[in-house]
Order: sequence, then structure tokens, then C-alpha cells
Amino acid sequence: MADCSLLTRELLAQLVGFDTTSRNSNLDLVAFIEDYLGRHGIASTRVDHEAGRKTNLVATIGPDIAGGTVLSGHTDVVPVDGQDWASEPFMLDERDGRLYGRGSADMKGFIAVVLAMVPRFVAAGLKRPIHLAFSCDEEVGCLGVRPLIAHMVKSLPRPAAVIIGEPTSMQVVNAHKAVHTYETEVTGLEAHSSNTHHGVNAVMVAGDLLAEINRLAAEMRRRGDATGRFDPPFTSVHVGTIEGGTAKNIVPRRCVFAWEARFIPGADTDEVPARLEQKAAALEAAMRAVSPDTGIATRRTVEVPGLRPVEGSEAETLALTLARSNDTGAVSYGTEGGLFQQAGYPTVVCGPGSIDQAHKPDEYVEASQLAACEAFMERLARASCATV
Ligand SMILES: [Zn+2]
Repeated sequence: MADCSLLTRELLAQLVGFDTTSRNSNLDLVAFIEDYLGRHGIASTRVDHEAGRKTNLVATIGPDIAGGTVLSGHTDVVPVDGQDWASEPFMLDERDGRLYGRGSADMKGFIAVVLAMVPRFVAAGLKRPIHLAFSCDEEVGCLGVRPLIAHMVKSLPRPAAVIIGEPTSMQVVNAHKAVHTYETEVTGLEAHSSNTHHGVNAVMVAGDLLAEINRLAAEMRRRGDATGRFDPPFTSVHVGTIEGGTAKNIVPRRCVFAWEARFIPGADTDEVPARLEQKAAALEAAMRAVSPDTGIATRRTVEVPGLRPVEGSEAETLALTLARSNDTGAVSYGTEGGLFQQAGYPTVVCGPGSIDQAHKPDEYVEASQLAACEAFMERLARASCATV
């Protein structure tokens, strides 16, 4: 198996060393990248997401013309709280050809390879530009990349392709699900638990809503996936957290739960929330007969659009050539790809490491995956030098 370069390893060790859990600032990591690019004569621009705390970085190597390739990656990582790691999560540790550390697969490995290739990109004499787009706050709903894309649309000559380096084991992925997340809050009426008829039990109302979500989830599962490309092969619906009640002898006034739906591209994203809303309206009628101050409110907290497959798009054609592959895949996790696509940029996902290792304790990326990504980038350098 091919091994990745020492420079990639060193850069990955440095990137993993910054604890860029989404709740933290990413400014130190961005300053490190700016400094590195600067030392190779590349100017970069910060596009702030949260002034003084969170920023995105965009830089161009090569001529300032249309037809370039965007390499996009996020700088934040998911928390390690409560996870049992065999080594220090923010210190890269190599064991048996695997590089362990938070973000090694998702997705600092990709950024490390891209940075390690910068000297090569600079020396290549590119005829078409390579743009680097590093974003913040991806893991909390692809938030940071939104102002970055707006900036790119305004200020960059139109690129021909965007490659998102999320871990796909270097497979070219041209479709992913949309992810919508919601928070539902039930407001009941407190009462002594001996007088249940004087109160409105928010936890028990939430139970009815959860039962409806279970029914909807089962229905979506039965409906399946006509494209046959997704795993799981259906629009999935899931409740992640719930919180409610004060004590067992108090009829609870409040219950809140967070839930999500991951839609197959093209699915009606309004259907599941609309049907839960119908159920909520029926429950509210009974609640308000006891007290008019009760109610159920659902708000959408995050909306990450899906990536629609566009067969033969410039991004797909380029990435398949660079990956030396004929096949595209589809994934069930969200990326900023759908947002780039909405902005009119042809987009695919292709990056080193496996999503199976992401977000878990002992996250790792195989050195051979980083080597495969290096070979991909070497081919990109050559392709970007060819005259069209
Ligand atoms: Zn990611």
C-alpha cells in the first residue's frame, strides 16, 4: 500500500493539534493555514462567520480566471466528550498505518493533503486556478460555509468544479441526502400529580408526538428509495434528545425534543413536518380545553440541502478522471455540497478516509488513503496545467 508524504503527516499532526470542536474558535487554526499559504506566496482572504471567533478562508493558486477547481473542507470537528479514546484525541498518533486523532478522517486529513500539495500547485504553472475554501461550523449545520459561498459567488470568476473532501474513501460521490433538523417544544400546565385532570402533561403529550414520528419514520421506510443508491434506502426520521419534567409528583409543564429527517434528494421535505403539525393541532385542541396557555411549537433549526446527482457534470467528469474511476456513489450524510450546488457550482464529494470512522472515539485515517488523495491532487495539478 502506498504511503503518504512526511509533509502531509506533519501538517495533519499540526491541524489535529488545534482543538477546533465546533463550540470553540477556529482562529488559531486559520492563522496557521494563512501563515503556511503566505510562506508559499499565496494570499488568502478571511470571510467571517462570527467576527472575532469563527472565520472561513479562501485562497486562489494560479490565474484569476473562470474554469478553476474549488477544494472545499471544514475546519471544525465534533466533540470528544464522553468518548473513550486509546490515545490523546488532539495529538496525532500513528499505529499500524493508521493516523489516529479527532478530525483525522473528518476532515483534516483532506486539508493536510491539500496544504501539502500547495508547493506543487504553485510550481506547476497552472493554466486554470485551484481555489481553497476552508470553512467553519460545518458540524453544526453547514453554517460557516454560507457566507463563504456568498463571498465566492460575488468575487471569484466562476469555477468549473467543486470537490468537497468529506471522507468517501476517495470514491466520487455525486448525491447525498438533505438534512433538516427540528426542535419541538410542548408547553403544558403544571399541577400536583394527584390532580392530573387539572394539568396538561407536557411529557405525555410529547409521547403522543413521538408515536406519530415513529409512524412517519416507518412509513418513509416502507416508501423506500426509488434510486436504489442510498444506505439506508429510505428517508430516515430520528429523535436525538428529549428533556422534560421536574419531579415525579409534578405534572410537567415543559418537554422539548430535537429530531431530524434525512431526505432522499427530490423527496418532499415539507411532508414529514406538515404531518407532525397536523397531529400537533389535534393534540393542542385537547390541551387548550384545559388551559389556553398550552401549546406545541416546532421550529426548524438547521436545513442542509441535498446534493442532486447531475450525471456528466464538469465536477463529476473531472473527479472521476482524477480518481481513475467510472462509478459514482451516494451517501446519507450531509455536506456543504448541496449549498455549492444551489449557488450554481457543479459539485461532487471525494475525500480520504471512511465516514465509518468519523465522529467516533479512535477516529483514524489510513496513511494509504492520504496517499491516494495525494495522487488525486497530483493529477489535478497536471489537469489544471493542460490547455483546453
Ligand atoms: Zn465532515
